[in-house]
Amino acid sequence: MAERKVRVRFAPSPTGALHIGGVRTALYNYLFARQHGGEFVFRIEDTDSHRFVPGAEEYIIESFRWLGIPFDEGVSFGGDHGPYRQSERREIYKQYVRQLLDSGKAYIAFDTPEELEAKRNEIENFQYDARTRMQMRNSLTLPKEEVDRLMADGEQFTVRFKIEPGQEVHVDDMIRGDVRVKSDILDDKVLYKSADELPTYHLANIVDDHLMEITHVIRGEEWLPSAPLHVLLYRAFGWEDTMPRFAHLPLLLKPEGKGKLSKRDGDRLGFPVFPLEWHDPKTGEVSSGYRESGYFPEAVVNFLAMLGWNPGTEQELFSLDELVEAFDITKCSKAGAKFDFKKGIWFNHEYILRKSNEEIAGLFAPIVANNGVDESMERITEVVAMMKDRVDFVKELWPLCSFFFIAPTEYDEKTRKKRWKDYSVRQMTELAEVLEGIDDFSIEGQEPVVKQWVESKDYKLGDIMNAFRLALVGEGKGPGMFDISAFLGKEETLRRLRRAIEVLN
Ligand code: GLU
Repeated sequence: MAERKVRVRFAPSPTGALHIGGVRTALYNYLFARQHGGEFVFRIEDTDSHRFVPGAEEYIIESFRWLGIPFDEGVSFGGDHGPYRQSERREIYKQYVRQLLDSGKAYIAFDTPEELEAKRNEIENFQYDARTRMQMRNSLTLPKEEVDRLMADGEQFTVRFKIEPGQEVHVDDMIRGDVRVKSDILDDKVLYKSADELPTYHLANIVDDHLMEITHVIRGEEWLPSAPLHVLLYRAFGWEDTMPRFAHLPLLLKPEGKGKLSKRDGDRLGFPVFPLEWHDPKTGEVSSGYRESGYFPEAVVNFLAMLGWNPGTEQELFSLDELVEAFDITKCSKAGAKFDFKKGIWFNHEYILRKSNEEIAGLFAPIVANNGVDESMERITEVVAMMKDRVDFVKELWPLCSFFFIAPTEYDEKTRKKRWKDYSVRQMTELAEVLEGIDDFSIEGQEPVVKQWVESKDYKLGDIMNAFRLALVGEGKGPGMFDISAFLGKEETLRRLRRAIEVLN
């Protein structure tokens, strides 16, 4: 058989915001496709009309646009395997349901929800399968005329997959190896419902994977239990030759404790579980997103890539292209990955450091302007250079840096008590005189002169610097004092110093 071109897909159901685990699934699919020169398809699985949420599809598309993960074809991207929205493929599925019925691989069932409920009460752990199907109301037990009559009368029915017991089903999983299951444990899954004329997830998923020529199914671990059924469906259609290989990714687990990551963990510990902010159209509830929280998309991608996979080296920082190079689906862990959100913050910090000061300044400039400060890009870049290693997010810069742009109007009381001594007025007045006499106001120009003066007077350098800082900053924070005074320049430094002497006297 000729080698097939690698084709993978991300196939979310538009039931709300995209969970961060779904983002990781899409990312791994993308990496796999790129490194094999393959194609990445975006399919919308919206056969469950009750769970459809307006806006969810657009949200998902916007999320990947922001993250910089492109699709090659699919909903909103085009391609020649469409339509890519399952709700637009009803007629296609009907054909394949018919095929299974005609070949005896599926049958029609008329059992009402009440009848099924009664059976469940009657038989413990009831399962609709080879042992019980002959006790039920279906085309295997009813005479053909009866079936035809019920159909003609418009009676609601489902189509169920007839699973033959005694078979061993192999799921070829790139992460988990050869997963074997006995067909006896599987139930005769509903593949189609007449009520809404739509197939269920299982049928639509298999038919589409086949028609869209999907070669590898990479998805969350929660779908592993469905995989044997999917393998049997491929067989029932006679598509064994093009059966995709599977990879069921490890679960994302709570940052602490046991169990899988939930939105509540995010709310409780204060981190987003969605890529973008999500406004629930039904409840009006707003959930935070990585974008709006100030994360860089590259940092989110890098962070997610390492949840369930690692390169086997010490390297943690990877660009998307580097991930394409290094990623290996077979090296994913089987065990769940703890969602260490603090690591996500660390990644964002690292990306701030890696980005140029100019780029960060470009993001910081609007914040500076919004605070009513008119400052050149050059000066903003200078501040960024001094301060960016202290923040995890660009939005943290302003509270830390505002004093560079705005002179203090008040002086922090605690710092004043501790740092402003009874002799500070005298010392600061002298310092002002010393600074006044300096022509080269650069760091290198000021530092030796001031230090020499401190020494000649036998002052304590700490005393001087602490009081100087309070005068210029208004509190006890900030980078090196001469970095600050050099940035402010002679005039502004002296203005602030003299005002402090006046106010704090
Ligand atoms: N529609 C399923 C989901 O929402 C797709 C699962 C699969 O990838 O087969 O995740």
